[in-house]
Amino acid sequence: MKFKSIAIVGLLSSCLAPTQLIQAQMNRAENGFNLKYNMESTTQLTTAEAISTAVDNPLLAGWKGAFGGTPLFDLVKVADFKPALESGMAERLSEVERIAKNPAAPTFENTIAAMERTGRTLDRVQAVYGVWSSAMNNAEFQLVEREMSPKLAAFSDKITQNEALFRRIEAVYNSPAKSRLTSEQQRLTWLYHTNFVRAGARLKPDAKMRLSQINQQLAGLFTRFSQNQLADESERFLVLKSEAELAGLPQSLRDAAAEEATAKKMPGAWMVTNTRSSVDPFLTYSDRRELREKAWKMFVNRGDNGDAHDNNAIITEILQLRAERAKLLGYPTHAHWRLDDKMAKTPERTMKLMEAVWKPAVARVREEVADMQALAKKEGADIKIEPWDYRYYAEKVRKDRYDLDQNEVKQYLQLDKLREGMFWVAGELFNFNFTPVTNVAVYHPDVRVWEVKNKTTGKHIGLWYFDPFAREGKSSGAWMNAYRNQERVDGSITTIVSNNSNFVKGKPGEPVLISWDDATTLFHEFGHALHGLSSNVTYPSLSGTSVATDYVEFPSQILERWISTPEVLQKFAVHYRTGKPIPQNLVDRIERASAFNQGFATVEYLSSALVDMKMHLAGAQKIDPDAFERNTLAELGMPSELVMRHRTPQFGHVFSGDGYSAGYYSYIWSDVISADAYDAFVEAGSPYDKAVAERLRKYVFSVGNTIDPADAYRAFRGRDPKIEALMRKRGFPVNDSKKAKPTPAKSKAKSR
Ligand SMILES: [Zn+2]
Repeated sequence: MKFKSIAIVGLLSSCLAPTQLIQAQMNRAENGFNLKYNMESTTQLTTAEAISTAVDNPLLAGWKGAFGGTPLFDLVKVADFKPALESGMAERLSEVERIAKNPAAPTFENTIAAMERTGRTLDRVQAVYGVWSSAMNNAEFQLVEREMSPKLAAFSDKITQNEALFRRIEAVYNSPAKSRLTSEQQRLTWLYHTNFVRAGARLKPDAKMRLSQINQQLAGLFTRFSQNQLADESERFLVLKSEAELAGLPQSLRDAAAEEATAKKMPGAWMVTNTRSSVDPFLTYSDRRELREKAWKMFVNRGDNGDAHDNNAIITEILQLRAERAKLLGYPTHAHWRLDDKMAKTPERTMKLMEAVWKPAVARVREEVADMQALAKKEGADIKIEPWDYRYYAEKVRKDRYDLDQNEVKQYLQLDKLREGMFWVAGELFNFNFTPVTNVAVYHPDVRVWEVKNKTTGKHIGLWYFDPFAREGKSSGAWMNAYRNQERVDGSITTIVSNNSNFVKGKPGEPVLISWDDATTLFHEFGHALHGLSSNVTYPSLSGTSVATDYVEFPSQILERWISTPEVLQKFAVHYRTGKPIPQNLVDRIERASAFNQGFATVEYLSSALVDMKMHLAGAQKIDPDAFERNTLAELGMPSELVMRHRTPQFGHVFSGDGYSAGYYSYIWSDVISADAYDAFVEAGSPYDKAVAERLRKYVFSVGNTIDPADAYRAFRGRDPKIEALMRKRGFPVNDSKKAKPTPAKSKAKSR
């Protein structure tokens, strides 16, 4: 079993990290699920039978065509997923069984490397399944997901609970021969051993049985959680019926709202859908305060409406099951279990960092609110700033103080041009070259594909799929995933990665203009893609973005910084009508405003991260999510003028899977590192300094999980990361924060 055959990386600004969807499918199950049935249903198919069904089921066929084969997206039928997954699971189980029962003494090659070769078919099926889950979801597919997520969870447990297999892994791990392996092989052995132990390989049989039940129950709950959230996002909306209700909205928003309404069969009206990409701009621009309040309430109450899609009871159950599982595995809480194999190592270290940033961020919010309050008063509005006013007045203050109008900036931010800008940056930093290809299948006409080559040698590196636009059935937010990881276990296999976002399509024939924040997100996700594309490792489990969740946002966050380099702005931020580059004085104003509103951004993020961590430190007590959220925020001193970025009932990062549970802190942990790392370029005098870029490629982007991230960072920077760069970047004072920084304890990895 490879541990992360499908890497999907979510983003801070996404409401929902599809990572969770995929991990849900890979790791867990449903209430009342019958283990015996599942074992029968997945083990009865022999490999020969599994292979024979490939004739009728294109999902089971190998990928064909150029570039080492590509996903057969054009042949997908939803009805094929279930038999394909079952067949893929059966094949992998029989391969694993052969390794476990091998009469030869365990060696790295016949055990660990052999495991890396298992499940090729399932990898391919799950790559496509993941795309349907996150980007092509519909009622028919949801039925399949509900049925398959518990089965996939049980399947995963069956491998990690295979005693004969674990004995072999342990034997390789403890063997003196391990010291003769390459450092990558030692790291892989450590990873297998760690993951098996963490998944309960050492438990007694009855505890293993209970663990598997818990995992299956959780899988079902995760699926229900995300389906409820998707339902609230697609079935609730705000309809605007007259011009007067559009007051303040820029033309592009009016157009998008009109198209939404037409799509929902309400021609002549305008619609604000219940997603962040629709609600945030409305809250920023609408002059109609009572409508802002309505939109805001609709959005922050997703999953919390006391109806069939309410997530509160599900959360209570998830938290209890997680607490019970942590105890079974020998950890005081779920947070301790999650953190044990991360860069941070312990919940306490993450709390220390978050608390160090929390106070200056709240202090900044007070200043921001005072500014907004004063401006409202000046305009004659006798109001107290409420959460539905924050974005609106922040935008006014931004214009007032920095003479910076987002709509003015937007005219220079064309999606197509910025994409070319990213390609150019990738050329400068990583020596990559991107050329469009049309001879591969896509799953939707919006999706386009580029081949990535080495700029100097022309050598094929991989493929980059780009799915930029919002549509029904696609998760909100933005993410990257890998359809196939780079590896060379048996000959060189190149990677296939994709970037996904939810930009609103413009009118036909007109360039798509995006906001500065969206442009930053575009670069962020591209950073994940470059992390995947730069991978240069042997084993697929260690490839590309398969690194600790509190390290994986470092490559993506650092790439955000190149959008504001003069080279990119002058060449690619050109006016959509005149073609003229963005004027220097506008760039200066953007620069001056860069720390603007960081109180808001930091507090809305940190409040979510702190509630996540505290909920998972609370142990086995029965938690009422509403009360817990309210009390925790009160204790923290949460300013009343804003809310958590993800309130608990819609916190998909945390409750649609385990991936980011007790892990939402990862974004700030990684951002400390990325801010500190970018300073290396600043110190070298240029964001395009060749020597620093080469070190970044060599020690960070190309190594995957072959070395401990703390060691990798030290190799890049010559020291551990410091927090000061982050505080400066956000415009906070640096003094309070000296003690809290992500200098991890020495890894338990014995790979070097
Ligand atoms: Zn990210």
